[in-house]
Amino acid sequence: MSQRMQQGQPMIVMSEDSQRVKDRDAQDYNIQAARAVAEAVRSTLGPKGMDKMLVDSMGSVTITNDGVTILKEMDIDNPTAEMIIEVAETQEDEAGDGTTTAVAVTGELLKNAEELLEQDIHPTAIIKGFHMAAEQARAEIDDVATEIDTDDEELLKRTAETSMTGKGAEVNKEHLAQLIVDAVRQVTVENDDGENVVDLEFLKIETQSGRAVGESDLLVGGIIDKDPVHDDMPTEATDANVLLLNDPIEVEETDVDTEVSVTDPDQLQKFLDREEQQLREKVDHIVDIGADVVFCQKGIDDLAQHYLAKEGILAVRRAKKSDLEFLSEVLGASIVSDLESATAEDLGFGSVTRDDEDELFYVEGEDAHGVTLLLRGSTEHVVDELERGVNDALDVVAQTVSDGRVLAGGGAIEVELADRLRDYADSVSGREQLAVEAYADALELVPRVLAENAGLDSIDTLVDLRAAHDKGDVHAGLNVYTGDVEDTFEAGVIEPAHAKEQAVTSASEAANLVLKIDDIISAGDLSTDKGDDEEGAPGGGMGGGMGGMGGGMGGMM
Ligand code: ADP
Ligand code: MG
Repeated sequence: MSQRMQQGQPMIVMSEDSQRVKDRDAQDYNIQAARAVAEAVRSTLGPKGMDKMLVDSMGSVTITNDGVTILKEMDIDNPTAEMIIEVAETQEDEAGDGTTTAVAVTGELLKNAEELLEQDIHPTAIIKGFHMAAEQARAEIDDVATEIDTDDEELLKRTAETSMTGKGAEVNKEHLAQLIVDAVRQVTVENDDGENVVDLEFLKIETQSGRAVGESDLLVGGIIDKDPVHDDMPTEATDANVLLLNDPIEVEETDVDTEVSVTDPDQLQKFLDREEQQLREKVDHIVDIGADVVFCQKGIDDLAQHYLAKEGILAVRRAKKSDLEFLSEVLGASIVSDLESATAEDLGFGSVTRDDEDELFYVEGEDAHGVTLLLRGSTEHVVDELERGVNDALDVVAQTVSDGRVLAGGGAIEVELADRLRDYADSVSGREQLAVEAYADALELVPRVLAENAGLDSIDTLVDLRAAHDKGDVHAGLNVYTGDVEDTFEAGVIEPAHAKEQAVTSASEAANLVLKIDDIISAGDLSTDKGDDEEGAPGGGMGGGMGGMGGGMGGMM
């Protein structure tokens, strides 16, 4: 490869360190890098997908099945590979789920593109064909999708469960699915056009280790995981005016370097009096504006605590910024950053109750719009992975509630799309036709990998699935537990249509981005080993160019 690289740079004066790779070499290089990334997440796809244990350079461990998490933690420094990771991130942002699918399909698209390139088909024809196929696929998804009644709680629960299957959330998925559906419905409002709008800003996830996943709970309102600052304070307040404060209730420091020199005891007393006075005034102001509860993001002086307790005010210090922000939504309060300027208008209204067992406060607003999903699990690792799974499921339910279109999972939609795309390909002329067919084949990677990961024969599975779809069974998918082909929609394996639309779009866009590149000009040396090129690292066959990636993956077991 290096000889061909050098042929490509006669006219350009570049530094000795820089490298240039052109045409097929450039495409090869990029395709291999992208495929290596796709390979890395493939084994996690589906209910039977395996988890990965990621160890970062600091030795901290993440155990996950979540595509985007794996890619983010992999510390990849290959630019092409990074483009693929962006696919995952876009998918995560736009749909919240389906990241592994999007990345795996991208890898498969590129693999198929490689075969076309080898047949001397020009990249522009492939790019155009992929684009046409993706557009057609979106139209077909809409055609296949089932419109559901967005009040159908059971169906919504099935979408949550499908999303959580195979994740840390699996064990208690029925309980969690119920909480997720309830949570989303709490923060759903109908707009003027009668459409459901899900406002996830009003939904917060809190995690606590030390108790069973099954004890996870949904709370109306927010949580403050703190103790009152003073023992004599009340621990509950109903119909309370709540002040959210981002300003210390402490003596204001004079200038940083000012030294106060005290020459006689009188002066010292005056100085202390002045401090006391300042604190007294701050607390008086809190009383004057009518606050019953103060959640303060900063510190509260001992003396101020004492005054507040005497006034019967419940106060908490060093509350989390994110908690205050959430409470400002729940209570309709402003976060005050300068106590002196606080007025009664800034206060929110609600109730504060104490959970003695967990030593936290529940804060409920008047219209009870904000909710908190309290996720529990035995250990941090368990809770972290649970949170990732629940996050995906929340997005899935939110999308289903607002969009209303769902599909049969377990590979059913992919096989149906492939089938329809092959029909569509017949109407496409020129080389693009081959690219549309290659796209159809790439979608079938999903059922193939679902089967593979379940220890089933992927070819047999695909043959059975195709046969069922040929007969018109639009919902025929794989039951990964029995290996049978069944109506996965009936079986409750249900996915939102929007996520799948996003996946076909981002996969084709990413593949096309890679295919468009015919020239890599690198300031550094592409063939220098950066990492210690682990033998097991995908892309090892790429030579040293993937060194950075090999190094990054070194910590992955
Ligand atoms: P992604 O990151 O793409 O969401 P997942 O690991 O969550 O990857 O796997 C999603 C795939 O698993 C989808 O194709 C979905 O239809 C499939 N799936 C989920 N639950 C089941 C099930 N019970 N049976 C068969 N397939 C399932
Ligand atoms: Mg998923």
